[in-house]
Amino acid sequence: MNNGDLHKRVLKSGLVAMTLLAGAAVVAVAASGNSGGIDTTGWNDPHKPFQIYGNTYYVGTDQLSSILITSEFGHVLIDGGLPESAARIKASIEALGFKLTDVKAILNSHTHPDHAGGIAELQKGSGADVYALRPANEVLISGKAAADDPQAATKGSGIPKVSRVWVAQDDQQIGIGSIRMRAIATPGHTPGGTTWTWDACEGSKCLKAVYADSLSPVSSGKYRFSDHPEVVQGFEKSYKRLEALPCELLLTPHPSQSQMFERLDKGATNTEAVKDADGCRKYVATAREALAQRLQTEKQGR
Ligand SMILES: [Zn+2]
Repeated sequence: MNNGDLHKRVLKSGLVAMTLLAGAAVVAVAASGNSGGIDTTGWNDPHKPFQIYGNTYYVGTDQLSSILITSEFGHVLIDGGLPESAARIKASIEALGFKLTDVKAILNSHTHPDHAGGIAELQKGSGADVYALRPANEVLISGKAAADDPQAATKGSGIPKVSRVWVAQDDQQIGIGSIRMRAIATPGHTPGGTTWTWDACEGSKCLKAVYADSLSPVSSGKYRFSDHPEVVQGFEKSYKRLEALPCELLLTPHPSQSQMFERLDKGATNTEAVKDADGCRKYVATAREALAQRLQTEKQGR
């Protein structure tokens, strides 16, 4: 399908809006059974790009994060938003004085269309290679959601196909110039969900940055997490991995999942102001609670 079709399909269905967004507020809407009333066009509203800290910049849209990490010898981009976000992300990179063609690696949190939909276009514009854990690599190449994705039944869950996808291993480091990106498998929200960590550096002062993948237990169709103990175990493993990570600068696929704009868009980059050693643990605590509630709801519905 072309990008326009996907967009129309995404806009058409309130269910898609409900299930693809992973923010806590939206999970609450889903739990109440109200799938309407979400203005999905807001996902792609522009947001002024800004320096988060040191070599790490926000180049995403108003509700979909995209993170640029720069070095003298090439940049890394994490997440590409929706298919129609790609043009905005390119414009944001350029507004900061960087070039899309200097992006040498594109990484992804998870393969839902609101985070991976723009990657194909951004890859075309940059010539970058894409790195992904299994089985996310297969989704990026085929453009089709994994059968065991809790949201596989969502209409319009596919993405424009990505080429040159290299398989990264759990805990592997990927180097671009002086940047070292580490892949951490955090399954649950999707089977191939990946958290990325790196050192965000302002001169010699560095913060342990973590782009923590969505951990929300959201599904579509008749899917029940209680029927999939391996997915619940995946969530548990992901929580433990994230809690154990050195985590001083937490970033998330939806800015609202961790109040990124409120915390980080201060017009200046200040180590003490942006540093929060508890960020990942707080993020996990919210996710644990959401899964417990979800399993409880499923039990009551039995
Ligand atoms: Zn998602």
